[in-house]
Amino acid sequence: MIYLDNAATTKPNQDVLDTFLKVNQSLYFNPNSPHQAGIQAEQLLKQAKAQIKALFNFDNEFDIIFTSGATESNNIALQGVARKKKMFANEIITSVLEHPSVLEVVRALGEEGFEVKYVDVTKEGKIDLNHLQSLMSDKVGLVTCMHVNNIMGQIQPIAEIVDIVRAYPKAHLHVDAVQAVGKVPLIFEGVDSLSLSGHKFNGLKGQGVLFVRNRHEIIPIMQGGGQEYGLRSGTVNLPIDISIVKALKFAVQHTQSLNKQLKKQNTQIKTYLEGFSNIIINSPSDAAPHILNIGFPGVKGEVLVNAFSKHDVMLSTTSACSSKKASLNEVLLAMGIPSIQIEGSIRISLGANTTESDIETFKDKFNAVYDEVRELLK
Ligand code: PMP
Repeated sequence: MIYLDNAATTKPNQDVLDTFLKVNQSLYFNPNSPHQAGIQAEQLLKQAKAQIKALFNFDNEFDIIFTSGATESNNIALQGVARKKKMFANEIITSVLEHPSVLEVVRALGEEGFEVKYVDVTKEGKIDLNHLQSLMSDKVGLVTCMHVNNIMGQIQPIAEIVDIVRAYPKAHLHVDAVQAVGKVPLIFEGVDSLSLSGHKFNGLKGQGVLFVRNRHEIIPIMQGGGQEYGLRSGTVNLPIDISIVKALKFAVQHTQSLNKQLKKQNTQIKTYLEGFSNIIINSPSDAAPHILNIGFPGVKGEVLVNAFSKHDVMLSTTSACSSKKASLNEVLLAMGIPSIQIEGSIRISLGANTTESDIETFKDKFNAVYDEVRELLK
């Protein structure tokens, strides 16, 4: 089987699994327990956070909150910050490019009374910086933006967005860095909060992190025992938290080499596709190297995914979260891509486990699928 759906999820690294098992077996204690075993667990939790800080060379600029994944991290940050700022800055800025774990939260906040503004998107799928500048004011309490898009792979100009937002001290800048970790260097400078999910970089499902510069800017969305500075109540899942540190360390320390490997594989696929005149590359040329979105005008994306699946190649239409919805993908629409091309678009996503031989096999399988659908192509 050729697995090319790494933007949906990745295979866990063996040492992440080993760590998870080992901590479960020998350090299953509750870090909040007052006895020796609890204290030992608490020390391990502190060490895990210190290791993350060391990995990114922070001193104490950020607090680290372990969560169950980016959906939870995004919810804690977005709902928590918006509500904290409601009285004096009730505008929220985002874009239609965001993942549902941001878009749906913002939509719900809109229903709660916040004023939501959507920043324009350029045809390369990037935030229109001039438009963002024009939307900014002292009424803006929250700006939220993804680092790398999960459908097309475009990288957002986070440093430039920071420059614009920083001129407005009331505005909190949240970054959804889920698809960036291990693929492109993360930008923390000037960012107020950032979320990630372990299973996107060879960690486990159900483990995530939220980085927060000033935790007092967040009202907790869940009430309970007060763990994780009161922002994520519930018994600490030490095996999950320790093992995400393993995955994160590996991903961050190997970003450069993985980026190079993925770029090479991405270029190999693109070069191969150039031989097919009616196949269109939807992803911008400077996209993150693990995501390659392509269009087969005239064919339905679901038909293509099924055809590839029959040939043992696993890939997606848009994203795993929205690929079961019938509507045209908003990210591609926002980039001005014609409907016929959107309907026939598929996402090929590479990962640390993608091999050269996977790419070669993919080319053969692509040929076979192309032959099956060529009559439909427009
Ligand atoms: N943001 C982005 C950009 C994503 O790709 C995803 C996962 N598809 C998420 C957030 C949510 O992550 P999770 O499902 O692990 O909570």
